[in-house]
Amino acid sequence: MPELPEVELGARLLREASAGRAITAITTRHPVYARSLPPADAARATGHTIVDVTRRGKHQLATLDDGGVLEFHFGMTGEWIAGRQNSPAEAFARLTIDFSDGSRITLADSRALGTARYHAAGTPVLAGLGPEPLSPEFSAASLGESFRRRRGPVKVALLDQSVVAGLGNIYAAEALWLAKIDPRTSAAALGPVRRARLVQAIRHVLKRAPAAHYTDRERGTREWRVYDREGKPCRRCGSRIARLVQATRSTYYCPHCQRR
Ligand SMILES: [Zn+2]
Repeated sequence: MPELPEVELGARLLREASAGRAITAITTRHPVYARSLPPADAARATGHTIVDVTRRGKHQLATLDDGGVLEFHFGMTGEWIAGRQNSPAEAFARLTIDFSDGSRITLADSRALGTARYHAAGTPVLAGLGPEPLSPEFSAASLGESFRRRRGPVKVALLDQSVVAGLGNIYAAEALWLAKIDPRTSAAALGPVRRARLVQAIRHVLKRAPAAHYTDRERGTREWRVYDREGKPCRRCGSRIARLVQATRSTYYCPHCQRR
C-alpha cells in the first residue's frame, strides 16, 4: 500500500505531466476503473485543463479549469508513468490521460485496486476525511475526540482515514514504536500525554520518510524502526520484535518497551 510519501510523489508527477495542457481523452482500461470513472464522467472532464494537483490523505486531486475535480487513489499498487501517445502501452495500464501536445500519463496498477472519480464543480470532495497529520488541526485533542467513542485497539484506529488522513500500515507501526505505545492498547484508554506523544511520533516518521519509489521498498533498502522486523532485536531495548495481525494487517511491535 503506498504511504503518504509515494502519494505525494504521485501528485507531483501528475502535476508535472499535466501542467497547462488540455485533456483530449481519458480512457479507462480496466473494469474496476471504468466502474469508478464511467465514460460519461470521463467525457465531462475531457477538453478541460488541469490547473493544479494536490494531495489530500492518500488521494490525489486534479482540479480542472471549470472547478471540476478528478480524484485518483493508487489502491495497493498504483503509480503514474509519463510518456507519449504513440509509445507502446505500459504494462498494467488501467487508465490513461492524453493531452493536447501528444503526451500521455498512464496509471499503472498491477492489482487494479485503485480508483478514479470525477467530481463536478461545487460538489463535496472527500468530506469524511480526517485532518492531515502535518496540519495544526491534527493534535492530541483531535485524536482524543476521535478515540473517545471508539472500541478497539489504537493501531486499527490509526488506519481509519477519518481519524487522520493518509496514515498507512507501515507508518502507524513505526509511530507507535516511537511513542512506546503497544498497538493493542485501547484507543479510548489513551490519555492526553500519550496522545501528544503519538501525534509527535506520527509527524516525526512522516517528515523523515524519503519519497522513494516502491522498487526501493521491494528491494528492502529502507531501514524501518520496527516494521517487518519480526524476531529481530528492538532498536531501543534489544528485545525480540513480535508480529500480530490486527484487522487483517500485520503489526510489528516490541512487547518489552511498547506499553499498554
Ligand atoms: Zn524494545
